[in-house]
Amino acid sequence: MTLPHELSDFRFKIYAPMAFRYFRKLFKIDPKDFLVSLTSQQLKELSNPGASGSIFYITHDDEFIIKTVQHKEADFLQKLLPGYFMNISQNPRTLLPKFYGLYCYQCGGKNIRFCVMNNLLPSGIKLHEKYDLKGSTYRRKASKEERAKKCPTLKDLDFTDNHQKGLKLEAETYNALLKTISRDVRVLASFKIMDYSLLVGIHNLDEAREEREAERAKIGKEIVEDATCLSESQHTLHNQSSVDGTGLNRGRPTKRIANWSTAMEQIEATVEPVELENDNIPPGGIPARNDNGQRLLLYIGIIDILQHYRLKKKLEHGIKSLLADGDTISVVNPTFYAERFESFFRDKVFKKTASSMRQSPSKKK
Ligand code: ATP
Ligand code: CA
Ligand code: CA
Repeated sequence: MTLPHELSDFRFKIYAPMAFRYFRKLFKIDPKDFLVSLTSQQLKELSNPGASGSIFYITHDDEFIIKTVQHKEADFLQKLLPGYFMNISQNPRTLLPKFYGLYCYQCGGKNIRFCVMNNLLPSGIKLHEKYDLKGSTYRRKASKEERAKKCPTLKDLDFTDNHQKGLKLEAETYNALLKTISRDVRVLASFKIMDYSLLVGIHNLDEAREEREAERAKIGKEIVEDATCLSESQHTLHNQSSVDGTGLNRGRPTKRIANWSTAMEQIEATVEPVELENDNIPPGGIPARNDNGQRLLLYIGIIDILQHYRLKKKLEHGIKSLLADGDTISVVNPTFYAERFESFFRDKVFKKTASSMRQSPSKKK
């Protein structure tokens, strides 16, 4: 039924179309925008630091992530739909992934299943660090190959090395964030889900400013004038994404910044984004500070929730705990996993601070 094409015959299957149509509506995804984002231009492939063999694609406009999933993960997502529906409708404040669709492409006897999800890390915002955190310490260090990448995905042990005092949040933000994490992990444990991570992207405002200043010094006055002119007109530019490595995204379409500007909304925090000088503040991140007092914006969300606890996992745990202390392994039971996950973020990753996020950083570095 397709238009004439040069591809081999294929079938395209849409799973649970009604349910996902409902979710897209709930998440305020316009059907036309959805189609345009996914089909109007070539998708970009992302390198996947994971071991599962899943392939990730991102849409040209940065809005959606496509992830190929295994047969059992696709089955599990379908079984999860009623519970997911209940949870999302009762509690829209959540860091759980937003699933916008599940599909299967059948060709040459092969089935390729994939889901469409929200992109948590907009490429228009420079991320100085990126972590995939589980609260487990067992082998949770990024490989050498991963660390050699331009923007590597680091893990738990890298985090505790780099942020010995954690990420400081204002009390209100901290409480809202931990409340959300706590509720989310309870939901995940109730579905016997585990092995998920909290993805944390860190934009360092002070480093971004220094980078900008260095850039300016390098390029000279003429370009500075150009840049000012560009950034002043950024609100009128459309459909022309240009990222210049300075943390500014000058021509990003304005209509759907909402997708990732929700990090703050998702945790029910009302603290206004950091407002300072003439810094160009990327929208939506959670304000925080690091050990050096530098101002950060965090982009976060829970990912990889289609792993269901089964006998196979139990066996795996039995075998691995012969080799290491059972508690530190990431293959444990879902309730234990959830508790360890939550307490890692409560005690190690995020710290409550009374001081304001708005003041300029102290000079120490
Ligand atoms: P494994 O099962 O081996 O852990 P996986 O193939 O299931 O890996 P994920 O854990 O889902 O993959 O994700 C791997 C990486 O892809 C993450 O660490 C993150 O860098 C990136 N990623 C995944 N989902 C998103 C998302 N929604 N937005 C942005 N980046 C993402
Ligand atoms: Ca994972
Ligand atoms: Ca996985």
